[in-house]
Amino acid sequence: MTMPALFVGHGSPMNALEDNAFTRAWREVAAALPRPRAVLCVSAHWETEGPRVTAQLQPRTIHDFYGFPPELFRVQYPAPGAPALADRVVALGASHGAARDTGWGIDHGAWSVLIRMYPEADVPVVQLSLDTALSPAEHFALARALRPLRDEGVLLLASGNIVHNLRLMRWESTAFDWAAAFDARVAERIEQRDDDALIDWRALGPGAALAVPTAEHYLPLLYALAQRGPGEKATFFAEGVTLGSISMRSVRIG
Ligand code: ZN
Repeated sequence: MTMPALFVGHGSPMNALEDNAFTRAWREVAAALPRPRAVLCVSAHWETEGPRVTAQLQPRTIHDFYGFPPELFRVQYPAPGAPALADRVVALGASHGAARDTGWGIDHGAWSVLIRMYPEADVPVVQLSLDTALSPAEHFALARALRPLRDEGVLLLASGNIVHNLRLMRWESTAFDWAAAFDARVAERIEQRDDDALIDWRALGPGAALAVPTAEHYLPLLYALAQRGPGEKATFFAEGVTLGSISMRSVRIG
């Protein structure tokens, strides 16, 4: 059977500890999926020159944030790695320059979500970085090359945020108009299956530059959308804009 693929809007790292509508949605989506053989995670928080693939037997938990409470720094996510899967990803991404990496591990874009999806940390995890040299269309093409993994029991988990502007973030629940509008426009294009418009998100209206000031939180969405086969559905299992400028919209493919 073909494994679904997910894009999760991860938001604050505190979602690793807090119980809220989003973290419950992550738990529920995992419970509804077939159990994966491994997770391939594309996180907004790992950018490199050339696509890199974590290949350790036991990846370390990376606390790549500042200014959060000590209990968040104590969180460990001791899921095993999957070097054989890393080799497979390197092979599938060879024409894009994919290579093994043993320096990274599991960053908070991955573990803050995985700890709710698979709290036992018993599903092996491999991460694929975002190559800063690729255009959005090239990211989409690389992601498309990974589609065979869905038939090999691998869950592609892309983790970012469709709208992500930390500079304009505010401590209230009301979304900025431009944030809500961009999030809705992206949702509409996903429903219409308009991948070209989503790849060219900068042309998606005047709010695009505010919603996506830098590409790294948006790009993981393209990795999930590229997994979509002919006739396959995309459904939203979480949505909402928090802190004014962070979209938590999450997408299930298949
Ligand atoms: Zn993030």
